Amino acid sequence: MAIMRFWLALLFVLLVGADAAAAATEADYAARRRVLVKMIEQDVRATRRYLGKTELDPRVMEAIAVTPRHEFVPPQQKRRAYLNRPLPIGHGQTISQPYIVALMTDLLGIDEDDVVLEVGTGSGYQAAILGVLVKRVYTIEIVEPLGRAAVARLARLGYDNVEARLGDGYYGWPEHAPFDAIVVTAAGSHIPPPLLAQLKPGGRMAIPVGGRFQTQQLLLVEKDAAGAVTTRQVIPVKFVPLTGGH
Ligand code: SAH
Repeated sequence: MAIMRFWLALLFVLLVGADAAAAATEADYAARRRVLVKMIEQDVRATRRYLGKTELDPRVMEAIAVTPRHEFVPPQQKRRAYLNRPLPIGHGQTISQPYIVALMTDLLGIDEDDVVLEVGTGSGYQAAILGVLVKRVYTIEIVEPLGRAAVARLARLGYDNVEARLGDGYYGWPEHAPFDAIVVTAAGSHIPPPLLAQLKPGGRMAIPVGGRFQTQQLLLVEKDAAGAVTTRQVIPVKFVPLTGGH
């Protein structure tokens, strides 16, 4: 009996202890996210000449503040999850720098009724940020293990309005088109015509364009109500290449 009580006591200590540690960690992550928001705000001010403004949409910053980036990086990167830096996610790919995620999301000018397409799911972090802000997100990943992991992760974290699939995002997702906004998180040599075709009149697309060894430019592409397209260079960026058979 005594030994039984000992084991029960030990179990109690382990469970309560683990619980307390987990709670502390969540609070700690939330605090780190608040610091991250400050760092992004600083970067936005530092790049105001490119952006033509000194702050991003507060809703976007709030989405950054509530989204658990540490859940989207490999275990060994967790302690770096709230640095304002891209991080490796395996298969030669990266989760984008939070400042860039915030900026691209801001450029889309989205609202809560929007349906958005993302090309390049990667970790699923950008899709999760969009999921907080809009009605529905469709996201496509070409690297199978990354795509599968992202689907499982987004489901586990409860992002029910995000649908992810494997495939070549160059061709978009015609079944769900047209989209209010499109974000491409890998750089190609040009704007894929199928994506332009799947953008709604009045819609916006944020996309990096440029070769692997060239300076890439983040472009904001706007299609007006009459279907005319204008393009503006926002800021030089560095993204992994848009691959696929096109
Ligand atoms: N948005 C991601 C960033 C991932 S990096 C995140 O938040 O983590 C860009 C991703 O685009 C990589 O995972 C890469 O495999 C993917 N990619 C590259 N070319 C693609 C294509 N043609 N179609 C779909 N995904 C592509």
